[in-house]
Amino acid sequence: MNETKALLMLKLRKVGVSSTEILDCIETIDRSRFVSKSFLNRCLEDIALPIECGQTISQPSLVGFMTQQLEIPRRSKVLEIGTGSGYQTAVLSKFASRVYSIERYKKLVDIAKKRLEDLKIYNVIILLQDGFYGYSPQSPFDRIIVTAAVEEIPSSLINQLKIGGVMLIPVGLPNEKQSLLKVVKTEKSLDIKELMSVRFVQMKEGLIKI
Ligand code: SAH
Repeated sequence: MNETKALLMLKLRKVGVSSTEILDCIETIDRSRFVSKSFLNRCLEDIALPIECGQTISQPSLVGFMTQQLEIPRRSKVLEIGTGSGYQTAVLSKFASRVYSIERYKKLVDIAKKRLEDLKIYNVIILLQDGFYGYSPQSPFDRIIVTAAVEEIPSSLINQLKIGGVMLIPVGLPNEKQSLLKVVKTEKSLDIKELMSVRFVQMKEGLIKI
């Protein structure tokens, strides 16, 4: 393992990623495939990087942390809102039976589809949709992960989560730090825990079809 990669793996452990499966997964999936050429030399650093359409690819330690917090059971169906580069999607694909990933930019959908195909990842369905509505044709989901920030948790996403299901979602006002919430849906209510403060791009309504 080269030095930058070793440092990255150390960072993952530092934020509390202890699952060997997740550590192995992050070590194996080549992040250089998910960033543009101009950032290739920084793809192993534990930082978010700019991608097409003014969006960002998440920090690897946060991808590992969120994946661990999701506690994805075997044979589960996961909904991801905010495909972006497709990097978090690729990580999820290794733990779930099927991942439905939603993105509002057609350009990002097309690029991410191609990347996952090239990596021979076939249990992911990437859709051009507005994440505020979730994806009702396949609901309910065992797990939901949202990688864009909202001011409040959309009720459609709560409705599309199974009882006993877990949702991770960053909540906060635009241009401010957000709280990453872990929401567990029970028969009667929601159990909400604040995990850490994070900074994601804001979730926006509507599709960009070019
Ligand atoms: N997890 C991604 C990071 C995504 S950044 C990665 O590692 O690459 C957040 C993404 O959410 C952006 O691509 C943005 O276009 C998308 N997004 C924002 N609002 C959305 C909405 N309403 N529906 C679907 N995707 C949305």
